[in-house]
Amino acid sequence: MPAFSCPGCRQLYEYAESDSGRPFICPQCRTQGHLPREEEVELAAPSSPAEWHAACPRCSSSLPLAWRALHRWVRCPVCQLLFVARQTVNPAPAAIPISPPSVPPSSQRTSNRTLVGGLLLAGGICAILNVAVAVLFSVFLCCLWPGVYLALGWSIVAIVRGSQMLSVDYHGPPPRLLAILQILLIINLDVVNLILGIVNLVSLEKW
Ligand SMILES: [Zn+2]
Ligand SMILES: [Zn+2]
Repeated sequence: MPAFSCPGCRQLYEYAESDSGRPFICPQCRTQGHLPREEEVELAAPSSPAEWHAACPRCSSSLPLAWRALHRWVRCPVCQLLFVARQTVNPAPAAIPISPPSVPPSSQRTSNRTLVGGLLLAGGICAILNVAVAVLFSVFLCCLWPGVYLALGWSIVAIVRGSQMLSVDYHGPPPRLLAILQILLIINLDVVNLILGIVNLVSLEKW
């Protein structure tokens, strides 16, 4: 199991590899951050010549590092601990037990994302149907109205983004612009998307 040292207080924590990148609040010093991702970890490989040294908070090994590793996650080659390389060397908090990190409850966030994702998906399908009906009933005269193209473009993006958000691991930014454009679909008299868009904007406040 990978272990890391809190960047704030150097307390050691173990975590499951699948939780990499998840938000983290240190229960001891309230430092906020995220669990180190493999791709952002600098290899504490001996840079020759070593530009500076950082001490591992667990095994106190002195690691030769390049300057670019400063303030980044590095992995101790001796004990495999991940820690943020700092110039000030605090002594290791020796016999502190390793406990699982506290990850803020994600159920509320996830249900919110599922709601917004579902509304975008439903709105996208609704907008396409709306356009199709309008175009057919107006015998293609509607194609002269720019709102038709706004609705088509918006619905494609909304369906793609909505499906992504329904997957639990969506970490992207809140789709605020999509929600605003959804409300603007009222130029096509699309009342359904006006309502869905307002619900989306309100839900995004609690993103
Ligand atoms: Zn801490
Ligand atoms: Zn070490």
